[in-house]
Amino acid sequence: MASPIAEYPKTGLKVVVVGAGFGGLTAAIECYLKGHEVVILEKTPTWTQLGDIISISPNAGQVLSRWDSSLVADKLNALCMHHKHFRIHTHNGDWVLDQPKYPPNKEKPMYNGHRADFHRVIYEYAMSLGIPIQLGRRVASYHEDDIEGKAWVVTDEGEIFKGDLVVGADGVRSKARKLVLGYDDKPKSSGYAVYRAWFDAEAAGITTDPLTREFVANGDTHTGWLGPDVHFLVATCKGGKEISWVCTHRDEANIEESWSLPGKIDDVLKILEGWDPRCRAIVERTPSCVDWKLVSRDPLPTWITASARTCLLGDAAHPFLPTSIQGCSQAIEDGCALATCLALSHADPTVSPLQKVPTALKTYQKLRYERVKEAQKKGEQVRDMWHKADWTKVRENPESIKLPREDWLMRHDCERYIRRQWVRASVEGCVMKREWLACGPESDEFMYQDMPPTPPAEDTMKRLL
Ligand SMILES: Cc1cc2nc3c(=O)[nH]c(=O)nc-3n(C[C@H](O)[C@H](O)[C@H](O)COP(=O)(O)OP(=O)(O)OC[C@H]3O[C@@H](n4cnc5c(N)ncnc54)[C@H](O)[C@@H]3O)c2cc1C
Repeated sequence: MASPIAEYPKTGLKVVVVGAGFGGLTAAIECYLKGHEVVILEKTPTWTQLGDIISISPNAGQVLSRWDSSLVADKLNALCMHHKHFRIHTHNGDWVLDQPKYPPNKEKPMYNGHRADFHRVIYEYAMSLGIPIQLGRRVASYHEDDIEGKAWVVTDEGEIFKGDLVVGADGVRSKARKLVLGYDDKPKSSGYAVYRAWFDAEAAGITTDPLTREFVANGDTHTGWLGPDVHFLVATCKGGKEISWVCTHRDEANIEESWSLPGKIDDVLKILEGWDPRCRAIVERTPSCVDWKLVSRDPLPTWITASARTCLLGDAAHPFLPTSIQGCSQAIEDGCALATCLALSHADPTVSPLQKVPTALKTYQKLRYERVKEAQKKGEQVRDMWHKADWTKVRENPESIKLPREDWLMRHDCERYIRRQWVRASVEGCVMKREWLACGPESDEFMYQDMPPTPPAEDTMKRLL
């Protein structure tokens, strides 16, 4: 069993996490490392290889960089894309710009790669810590009792899991949302869908086709083509051995029944009619693809119940468009932020025992809500910037088409931020100002005095040696 990175005293708090996606796993790992008792309930009966390309940005990478590096960072690094730049073209293949990769940083690493590869690493890390992950437990309903100060869930089989709080990290079709909002709120179509695929480049003939071999011949590459209302992105991984693409296009389909279906290659080729022959060649060589309907949801009025013993986290609270490149990262930030709030509340002598959980959950929401809302806006901004580009203007200033990577988003340290803001934010009635979200100096000046400092990555390494 691996050692936790920091020896926090046990808090005695029992946390029930529903959902073993990136958000639920991070919440559980961070809660465990910060001394809380935790159990994860996941509806899937066995760990399954699901999804395709996903990105963990530096703002989330730094949460993972504080975990045991031999079990997490080293493994993620071996599995992720190692490209030099993101090459952008117009839809007909005219080169526009090479945007250099985000500068590497050991404490704030960025990982792009297969969702299932990354998910397995984090899932196995949680297992190595001894966190109980109960697979095949589909939660049917959420409950809480303010007088008793407890929250609990009931599974399809009628089993009850009770704790001091319940975390609904149950994804875009969250059931926890009903208890939190008091009504059943369904996701709506965003007006777009993504055809997506991930496959073996050699077996598909990508390595030998003169039109496609440039994407895999010299290691990993990341390439985009932008057209009216459509963009097509290709990424290669593991030294060009595996290739993935996504094609985002308009789609008003009703998503009531299903939001991820088998796609048809011919339909993708129709969308790419008249596009760079290299895009079409990649699609023609693709064994199969998925038709992924992009759901959207207006920002929820709240992520926590009135008595603040149940909260939402990750996609359950805020689904992201892929063009934000932040869905997974914000779920990871949420998990770390929640565990930090619980630890701070527990250690804060001004918070009464019965108010420990409600204060933590209210402060979690206060400190996360505006940041996540701003990050969500990036999805639509990037999509519209690409889909409605004025190419005459872009030619004059190619930098204007780059993927935005603002410091407030990429360099934010969610744990430090919460520690710095705890004293003022945990006070009832305090409203957080948007400008406080700005990337601050790297210091713990407002750190709560009874809480151990965030260990820098090198200290973690030394402790483990
Ligand atoms: C199958 C799948 C494939 C995906 N593929 C991609 C991809 O290729 N690229 C990409 O960018 N994003 C993908 N995503 C979305 C991405 O993982 C999330 O947007 C992001 O990581 C936020 O994670 P999350 O933990 O909030 O939600 P999710 O990753 O959606 O995790 C939610 C978890 O809750 C579980 N769950 C749901 N309902 C219940 C219930 N009633 N009881 C118990 N457990 C429940 C789900 O099985 C799931 O494991 C995928 C998500 C899923 C579920």
